[in-house]
Amino acid sequence: MKAFELYRKDGKKTGVWCCGECSIVWLKKDLAEGCCQCIECKTEQRSPHKLRCEACGEVFIEKQNTGQKETERLAMEKAEVVDGEFGVFYGDTYLKDAEDIGGELYPGDAVPEFCFAAKPMRFRNWHLDNMLETEDESYGMDDYGEVQFEGLEGLREAFTVFNMDNEDRIICYTIDYSKKVKV
Ligand SMILES: [Zn+2]
Ligand SMILES: [Zn+2]
Repeated sequence: MKAFELYRKDGKKTGVWCCGECSIVWLKKDLAEGCCQCIECKTEQRSPHKLRCEACGEVFIEKQNTGQKETERLAMEKAEVVDGEFGVFYGDTYLKDAEDIGGELYPGDAVPEFCFAAKPMRFRNWHLDNMLETEDESYGMDDYGEVQFEGLEGLREAFTVFNMDNEDRIICYTIDYSKKVKV
């Protein structure tokens, strides 16, 4: 859309194209022309750096969700029935016992016949830096490296020891799409 080619000072073409909308440079004319267009409906899209306009974005997400539901439905059909020794997942919610599902249902929800089984997962290390970064972003702190926390070094060492001590523990669970448990 309104793409234009860049020229050298001496008037020679560069073969490099620029989007007339957002001025991002592309190596091909068609890419520059499609730059600020929705890839689905080809209309001018409002938000830069997005592939789809708002309407097409919603349709896309809806399709993705439907696709995922269908994938899960097929997986559920094929899943092997097990006794659920590690618990189950109802949607994203982990339940130690499939019988606890009652507490998760909304009025009018049908009790499903099966839930996906949970499978144990190894402990995932806790990362002090990630935690501090989250703090930074959420609470408007300066870069924590510059904040004069007391005892940061000791905490870092404690994290390392903690992660090593818990390395082989199995205390988390994830969905096992190949197994199901009768509710
Ligand atoms: Zn653009
Ligand atoms: Zn669109």
